Amino acid sequence: MIVVLRPEAEPAGVERALVERGLWVRRLRGASQTQLEVAPHSAAVDPREIASIAGVADVLSVELGLPRVTGLPARLTLRGQAIARGQAPWVIAGPCSVESEAHIHRLAEWLAGRGVRWLRGGAFKPRTSPYAFAGHGTEALAWLADAGRAHGLGIVTEAMSPEQAELVAAHADVLQIGSRNMQNFPLLRAAGATRKPVLLKRGLASTVEEWLLAAEHCLAHGAEAVVFCERGIRSFDPSTRNLVDLGAVALLAHVHELVVVVDPSHGAGRRDLIAPLSRAALAAGAAGVMLEVHDAPGHALSDGSQALPPSLAAPLLLELLGPEAAA
Ligand code: PEP
Ligand code: MN
Repeated sequence: MIVVLRPEAEPAGVERALVERGLWVRRLRGASQTQLEVAPHSAAVDPREIASIAGVADVLSVELGLPRVTGLPARLTLRGQAIARGQAPWVIAGPCSVESEAHIHRLAEWLAGRGVRWLRGGAFKPRTSPYAFAGHGTEALAWLADAGRAHGLGIVTEAMSPEQAELVAAHADVLQIGSRNMQNFPLLRAAGATRKPVLLKRGLASTVEEWLLAAEHCLAHGAEAVVFCERGIRSFDPSTRNLVDLGAVALLAHVHELVVVVDPSHGAGRRDLIAPLSRAALAAGAAGVMLEVHDAPGHALSDGSQALPPSLAAPLLLELLGPEAAA
């Protein structure tokens, strides 16, 4: 933000008034005008209040090129559930992959019994190796949607290509865009065109600005809403699979006032860190968490090492959702 001073204004006085409000300012002196540049990490103060300070001629804000993201509400309602920072956490749980019809029904039943209202699971799986299990595809979408219907759960699942977007949207309440596809622009357009809410995972080496612009693509093409999902970015340290960027979560939640969730499963890649990272995510401003849960992680067809078995998922779900949520 730039604060333009009146020619007769006393810069030091205006500066003081801004600093008292928690703003960090730097003086820019032109030939005919003085301006004060407000640092982005300053306190959030209504520009109208700044404009009313004696000596201020104008307040200019930097055009982010994100008209639709900027207009997004800080709170969403999906399937009657309020999703926002500070609300009861939005918990999306399920296996990494939809492994079989019986399996997804079994897990859905178990999760619903613990108060979970949203089921995840990939039918189309992005895999680093071409030889790894890549999902059961179209039939898995039907199993997932059936399991959701049978147990009253909303569905979040991934579309990997523009051609899949309509099909996946027909089976899902929220369309997931995977990390590797965050800048697949034809996919973002196709996802937007389905008009479904999009859960946009952050690219594994994407900046926050690129993430916001990817959301703008979805919204510009018709998406009803975008929820940002931090799932860890690339780091130099192999101790965890990725680095969960809670600074970005706080930035999106508190400064941009957007709805953001965290996926600690892909973020940490190890089940022993899921509970503490879930707590940290909510404390940083996340509206919810996405958790991989499997009844027999040792036999999971993908991502077994990060899946929570029932013995670990149950206490975490109880902590997140409360005892009254369980059926
Ligand atoms: C997933 O959630 O199933 C997934 C593949 O995650 P990511 O895109 O974050 O790797
Ligand atoms: Mn996974």
